[in-house]
Amino acid sequence: MTNITVCSRFRPLSSKEKRVHGDSVCIRNMDTETFIFKDEKEEELVFSFDRVFYEETVQADVYEFLALPIVRGAVNAINGTIITYGQTGAGKTYSIEGPSILESDDLQKGLLPRVVDDLFECVKSADESDKYTIKLSMVEIYMEKIRCACPVSVFKIMIPLDLLDLTKDNILIKESKVQGIMLSGVTEIFISDPAEALQSLSGGIANRAVGETQMNMASSRSHCIYIFTVQLELPDKRVKTGKVILVDLAGSEKVEKTGAEGKVLEEAKTINKSLSALGNVINALTCGPSTKASHIPYRDSKLTRILQDALGGNSRTALLCCCSPSPSNAAETLSTLRFGARAKHIKASPTVHRSQDKLAKKQGEVAPSKDESCDRIL
Ligand code: ADP
Ligand code: MG
Repeated sequence: MTNITVCSRFRPLSSKEKRVHGDSVCIRNMDTETFIFKDEKEEELVFSFDRVFYEETVQADVYEFLALPIVRGAVNAINGTIITYGQTGAGKTYSIEGPSILESDDLQKGLLPRVVDDLFECVKSADESDKYTIKLSMVEIYMEKIRCACPVSVFKIMIPLDLLDLTKDNILIKESKVQGIMLSGVTEIFISDPAEALQSLSGGIANRAVGETQMNMASSRSHCIYIFTVQLELPDKRVKTGKVILVDLAGSEKVEKTGAEGKVLEEAKTINKSLSALGNVINALTCGPSTKASHIPYRDSKLTRILQDALGGNSRTALLCCCSPSPSNAAETLSTLRFGARAKHIKASPTVHRSQDKLAKKQGEVAPSKDESCDRIL
C-alpha cells in the first residue's frame, strides 16, 4: 500500500484579505493535526490531517515533516513525490520555492533548495566507494502538453534553450521495462553541487516566465514538475535509482463557475481534469492491496502518467494542501481540504493510531459546539 502523508498549510492573511474581512479567519486550530473550519454558511466542520501547519509555521518544519523522509528514501532508491495543491495565491509556490529559489534566509527558504542541500549532504556522508550522480530536469504541463523548462548547461553557463525551442514543447512520455517512465528528449542536467543546482533551477524558473509571456498565460495555469534523479553505481556496476519529484500544481480554483469563457475556460477544464485524475490515482492507490496496478488510472492525464513511478509501488507521497485562512476564500479552501481528506482516506485504516470511536468521525463532519473538548471533537 502506498505511503501517503497529507498535510494542510494555512498561510498568513494577505493585506487584501485583511482589507475585506479584517483579521477574521475561517479556521480555529485545535492541535497539530486537527482544526475546525467554518464554511460559507458558518457551519463548522472538523478536519484532521497528518499535520496541520498554521500561519506561524516556518519552512524548516514543513520540510522536516514532509520532505526529509522522501529525500532520505531517494538516496536509498525509493521514489518519492511532494505535491502542493490549492487555489492560486494559497502558498504552493512559496512552500516549494520560498520567496525566491536563491533565498538564503533559513526562515523563508523553500522545500526545493532544502531538498538540494539534503541530497548533497546524504551523498557526501555516504561511503567513499559509493558513486552517486544527481540529475535534475524540470518540466511544465500546460493544456496537456509537456514542455521542458530546464536550461542547458554549457561550461556552467546556463543557456535557456529548451523552453524557447518550440520543438521541445510537446515532450512524449515513454515507458520502458528497465527504466520505467521516461520523458523522451527532456533535458537532464548533471549537478555536482548545491550552488550549481540552484543556478539551474533559477534558470528554469526564469525560462518558465519567458514561456508564459510568449504564450500569454499565467504560471498558475500550468503544473510545474521538478525531478531529481539520484543514481548509485554499485561495485558490480549495477545502478540503483531513486527519484525525488516536487510538483507545484496549477491553481485548483473552479474558474468555470465564474462565467469564464474561451481560453480561460479551456484551461480551467484541462486543469480540473488533471487534478481529478490525480485524486483518482491517489484514491485507487490507497484503496488497499487488492487494487491491481492495472486498475490505477495513470493514463487519464499527463500529470498522473509522469508521476506513475513516483506514486505507485513502494514509493512515498506527500500532499501539502495549501489554503488561505480568509473567510473570503472559504469555498475554495473547503474544496482543497476535501481533496486532502479524500487523499488521506486510505490512511484511516485500522493501522491508524486513533481509537475506533475517533475513527468513526469522518473528515469534514459537522463539529460539536465550541465548549466541547478537543477529545470529543476528534
Ligand atoms: P500559489 O503558488 O499557491 O499561487 P504563492 O505561493 O505565490 O501562491 O503565494 C501567494 C502570496 O502569499 C505570495 O506573495 C507569497 O509570498 C505569500 N505567502 C504564501 N504562503 C506564505 C507563508 N506561509 N508565509 C508568508 N507568505 C506567504
Ligand atoms: Mg504559484
